[in-house]
Amino acid sequence: NGNRGHVSHADAITSNSIAHADANTSKKKKVVVLGTGWAGMSFLKNLKNPNYEVEVVSPRNFFVFTPLLPSVTCGKVEARSIVEPIRNIIRKKNIDVSYCEAECIRIDPANKKIYCRNARTSMNANAKRGEEFAVGYDYLIIAVGAQVNTFNTPGVEGNCHFLKEIEDAQKIRRNVIESFEKASLPNLSEEERKKILHFVVVGGGPTGVEFSGELRDFVNQDVLKLYPTVQHLVKITVVEATDHILNMFDKRITKFAEGKFLRDDIDVKLGSMVTKISENEISTREKGSDKPTSMPYGMVLWSTGIGARPLIKEFMKQIGQGNRRALATDEWLRVEGCDSIYALGDCATINQRKVVEDIAEILKRADTDNSGTLTVKKFREVMKDVIARYPQVKIYMESKRVKDFVDILMEAKGKAAKETIELSIEEFKSALSVADSKMKNLPATAQVANQQGAYLAKCFNRMEECEKNPEGPPRFRGTGRHRFQPFRYRHLGQFAPLGGEKTAAQLPGDWVSIGHSSQWLWYSIYASKQVSWRTRALVVSDWIRRFIFGRDASG
Ligand code: FAD
Ligand code: MG
Ligand code: MG
Ligand code: MG
Ligand code: MG
Repeated sequence: NGNRGHVSHADAITSNSIAHADANTSKKKKVVVLGTGWAGMSFLKNLKNPNYEVEVVSPRNFFVFTPLLPSVTCGKVEARSIVEPIRNIIRKKNIDVSYCEAECIRIDPANKKIYCRNARTSMNANAKRGEEFAVGYDYLIIAVGAQVNTFNTPGVEGNCHFLKEIEDAQKIRRNVIESFEKASLPNLSEEERKKILHFVVVGGGPTGVEFSGELRDFVNQDVLKLYPTVQHLVKITVVEATDHILNMFDKRITKFAEGKFLRDDIDVKLGSMVTKISENEISTREKGSDKPTSMPYGMVLWSTGIGARPLIKEFMKQIGQGNRRALATDEWLRVEGCDSIYALGDCATINQRKVVEDIAEILKRADTDNSGTLTVKKFREVMKDVIARYPQVKIYMESKRVKDFVDILMEAKGKAAKETIELSIEEFKSALSVADSKMKNLPATAQVANQQGAYLAKCFNRMEECEKNPEGPPRFRGTGRHRFQPFRYRHLGQFAPLGGEKTAAQLPGDWVSIGHSSQWLWYSIYASKQVSWRTRALVVSDWIRRFIFGRDASG
């Protein structure tokens, strides 16, 4: 290994000082990263500290730009344009990184080891496959993402398409084209053609909505020319269990999307739960009725949410986290109940600290004269630290549209006496516990995974400092110079492409924009977010090709 033989000046100095500190740690610390998705890749791209030996373990030897997966399903973008080989990324790093194509099947935190199995089915029948091997680590970074959640609905596995991996998008594309070819055969009845061309999308979240829009565009722009005899038989249905599609977005976006789908002749069935899917029929139960209805379909995309992978479920049991939705970490992304293990992205969730848990300590610091009350001046001082440490307080203040927390406390008392009044500690407590109720889990998005990867890499880049503060930063501002900030998410906004060159954008500060202009914003942001110039060039040329020549309907 070329990297390992080379000792730079900086390396020599650090390994020297480590050697002085402890003779046993002169070897590079080994960091094992599980996963080559958004979180793992972001960590890798941002890691600069040469004092580690990094080993990436993942069954997938490429990164997928998931926001463009729906574009692959109908041929707007080619599959190879949105993937980047992991070895291309590693090649560009000048730190010690290697890759191992395998799936982690078990974690042994007591012995700091993981167990892996080669993931690829070999062409050679004699080749040994699936043999287990162990990999030791000093630090383990779990970024294995999540898997599709079927909610144990009968028939989903086996009859539905999913849209999670690049192979899924390719399969959907082949199936869409196959449906049109099949429906164009001469020996079919009108009913049979209609059934084949009934596309059902289960789940009105961003993925399901975007796929419906893509499919509608494909039908309007290309099917019209390529399969003119069957175009009028196409039906697209979106089945959503709640009262609205895109319900994680602003109400204005939801309303616009529902209106647009109505005009586009996409049938949106709200308050409708899928109970069963057989080979030919999909059964649903409408809200407020217990009689299931069913409809024939040609193809179903199941896109209702994600759940934990078996590896993570098993690991949670092992470390006493029980049966949770995702692996719990603290705000520094350290897995709770483990040593030297970090988790980020879709497989993990941050246990945010409640203010109420620390209230005694906060009060002790604030109420210096032990009077049981606080002056407004003192209270404001305390709040500065509280706001910095507990993000839910800021969210609460924003929701109340106040800049000064005192205003919230004054609601009952009347604002006249604001600067002179004394605040009772009970009032203080109850106002902060309301703030705690505003805590929300971060969404399972690439944006979160990407920021977490970059944050953790920064921690590893400054690990020497971090290790001096093993308990994380002191809880309050102004104490200690080597503060290590907890992870803070910065929401940069969210897009919902709706088809017809229209996109809804929800940007920070309640800013909503819908239409062609946000579609162009979408194009430019997604071009700029590509991991490499190679994929950027491919994606942009795919867009141009589609504008000029339409979609490719072979396959
Ligand atoms: P992933 O990116 O899923 O990566 C997990 C990695 O772990 C993979 O490389 C996998 O092969 C590997 N792995 C799995 N099991 C093991 C194992 N046992 N051992 C080792 N490695 C393993 N988010 C947005 O912010 N904006 C969007 O527009 C958007 N659009 C999306 C569209 C679609 C169709 C989908 C499916 C998702 C979209 N997302 C979007 C969500 C986003 O893709 C995820 O939140 C993000 O991928 C999470 O990153 P991750 O690294 O946690 O997991
Ligand atoms: Mg990952
Ligand atoms: Mg990914
Ligand atoms: Mg994913
Ligand atoms: Mg998460």
